[in-house]
Amino acid sequence: MGEVISPVDGAGIGVVAGCSVDDVDAAVARAAVAFETWRNMAPGDRGRLLRRFAATVDAHLEELAQLEVRNAGHTVGNARWEAGNVRDVLDYYAGAPERLTGHQIPVPGGLDVTFHEPLGVVGVIVPWNFPMPIAGWGFAPALAAGNTVVLKPAELTPLTALRLAELARDAGLPDGVFTVLPGRGSVVGERFVTHPAVRKICFTGSTEVGTRIMAGCADQVKRVTLELGGKSANIVFADADLEKAAATAPYAVFDNAGQDCCARSRILVQRRVYDRFLELLEPAVRAVRVEDPARETAEMGPLISAAHRDRVAGYVDGADVAFTGSCPDGPGFWYAPTVLLAASPADRHWREEVFGPVVSVLPFDDEADAIRLANDTEYGLSGSIWTRDVGRAVRVARAVESGNLSVNSHSSVRYWTPFGGMKRSGLGRELGPDALHAFTDVKNVFIGTEE
Ligand code: NAD
Repeated sequence: MGEVISPVDGAGIGVVAGCSVDDVDAAVARAAVAFETWRNMAPGDRGRLLRRFAATVDAHLEELAQLEVRNAGHTVGNARWEAGNVRDVLDYYAGAPERLTGHQIPVPGGLDVTFHEPLGVVGVIVPWNFPMPIAGWGFAPALAAGNTVVLKPAELTPLTALRLAELARDAGLPDGVFTVLPGRGSVVGERFVTHPAVRKICFTGSTEVGTRIMAGCADQVKRVTLELGGKSANIVFADADLEKAAATAPYAVFDNAGQDCCARSRILVQRRVYDRFLELLEPAVRAVRVEDPARETAEMGPLISAAHRDRVAGYVDGADVAFTGSCPDGPGFWYAPTVLLAASPADRHWREEVFGPVVSVLPFDDEADAIRLANDTEYGLSGSIWTRDVGRAVRVARAVESGNLSVNSHSSVRYWTPFGGMKRSGLGRELGPDALHAFTDVKNVFIGTEE
């Protein structure tokens, strides 16, 4: 921790001190005290405070967006969407406290009812690629269900989370209900895992760190939600609207400079339209506007850091480059959109999550071949299917082992529908109506009525 660097030009934009283990322990103690009041607040009052928090975010939407443009290099259009997503997720879950109903189950000799009890203090750990939305997907349902939250932003991107904590206070959330603790994963993040008063970890990040967190949580049987890596397939059948499939494919992987867990970074194209698809893809890739993300016209900004750019470039070295787009020269961690031809599914760039603006293309023969290749990965987060055959769309959507699929579209995230991964892409689901239950435990109470 220390100086925060803008990936747009490499300039320092502030200094943020990392929290120590003692800082975390003190914050968790405050959050545990605040939990007693927060959980017992009238549901309507808790909902009202969350709605006020949403309105305060809305009033500062442009400020938050501009902060993200500087800190994360997101295009201003994306950053506005991201700040708006925090507002929307808060508004959506603000309706939850009054609707968090249990069951009444028929039993002899009494009355049996269930409650969805909050867990206590929830630790949310956030990566650098979508600092605002991913924070909100954790803290909004956690708070709505009656928990208090400690949140650790990524080392590289702490600024918007720190501002959101100030806005929460301005909106009237009581002290200790929502605390942002910047710092190192190995210090703050690990203390969330080992602290006995933190009752759940909601983690988004790499599969490697998520695996360690899950093992750490096992010691205390701590609840855990994991949103991890991806290597999603964009499957293009010969009967698809090829023009539309090719025109949209760049945005399905190069959005946020490919630093997106849902990036469709493997394009599978049916062999008989493979050449035609590449012909259509080339101008679409060259047309992606990679420029200063503060410009209204920007479609892609820089990568998050110099080290990450080196890592991304490592996947392209020695690979078969079909064509590339362009990017600015000069300061900032720029990398041009790049299309690679995979020689086989064993290629490293085909198998591993690059997390940059690099996409690999491979032909397939028939439906069974497409499904086999799409599933030949440890990941299972997202994916797209392009075909005009409804039956095939449904068959393939059911067969691809992935948590979020779209047909003739690349959409992955709507705050009112569930989101999460299969296989090593994660555990549990965020967003949508059920996410609330991931922040509660069911309690069953039997009341004897016999005289
Ligand atoms: P990362 O795993 O390196 O870090 C994520 C967070 O975990 C950071 O805040 C980091 O400080 C913290 N951390 C690191 N070590 C820790 C430890 N030992 N204990 C506790 N916390 C620790 O990931 P990243 O590089 O920031 O993000 C990129 C990854 O996140 C990619 O793999 C991407 O696919 C994934 N991701 C997944 C989703 C999803 O919803 N599935 C969304 C966004 C990003």
